[in-house]
Amino acid sequence: MNSLYNHPLIHIKDKKSFEKKITDFRLNKLQIVADFDNTITQDNWETSWSLFPKSGLMPDEYVAEEAALFDHYYPLEIDANLNHKDKDALMKEWWLAALELFVKYRLHIDIIDEIIEDECAIDFRDWMAEFLELAAIKNIPLIILSAWLTNTINEFLNYTGSQFHNIHVVSNELKFDTDWYCVGINKDLIMHSENKDEHDMPENIRKMIEWKTDIMLLGDSLSDVKMIDENLRSWALKIWFLAEKKKASMNKFMECFDIVIEDNYDSLGVPEMILDMIK
Ligand SMILES: [Mg+2]
Repeated sequence: MNSLYNHPLIHIKDKKSFEKKITDFRLNKLQIVADFDNTITQDNWETSWSLFPKSGLMPDEYVAEEAALFDHYYPLEIDANLNHKDKDALMKEWWLAALELFVKYRLHIDIIDEIIEDECAIDFRDWMAEFLELAAIKNIPLIILSAWLTNTINEFLNYTGSQFHNIHVVSNELKFDTDWYCVGINKDLIMHSENKDEHDMPENIRKMIEWKTDIMLLGDSLSDVKMIDENLRSWALKIWFLAEKKKASMNKFMECFDIVIEDNYDSLGVPEMILDMIK
């Protein structure tokens, strides 16, 4: 515990409350909910969506159309004057249009494989593999909520040897034909920046975890706090990774979360250490 308390880059909001949560957490009641971009993965690129246009593997027409969508919708995404209902509808529109581009340009699964295998493009945070493995050994459901693509995240977990039985990816799903060209999207679940929360999880996942009253949340942006509904939980421990570029928001992060890890220190070594303490 002291190694957590005494480290200059690890900030614990309320030590008493933190210790109580660790003591009261029960392994059989615990679930983990994690964001993907810059939480599971290292904080070394803008967003995972940008990997496709930047890969050099997609047609120029795709890159142009994707950029036009970004130019149109991104100002709306960050428009503080839009209410949640309107923004939710607009973001769904954006995500649907962006996903349909994969169908229009017949994305082949090999392109996903190449992007994932490109070592420069995407990588785990330090200690992530160990953290995922420990969660699997302890049989704790780990839900990755992401507004990216189920197919790519699963491919990433496979490639890194971390596709464990307890991991459930809740994200946007592309459908492929027998020759592995993209032919459709699963429109039952469009997960975008405005609806990335447990209320939009598929029924089977919600059923599986509805009696899991203790929760550990991992994220890297303020909006990630919406991923769980604390009112439904006995205990929620929220862990945040604070990138250098967001340091100015440190106080805001400290208000919202139990632990803030600065400069990506030791990355997932901290949640791994905490998971190890829960009996
Ligand atoms: Mg993120």
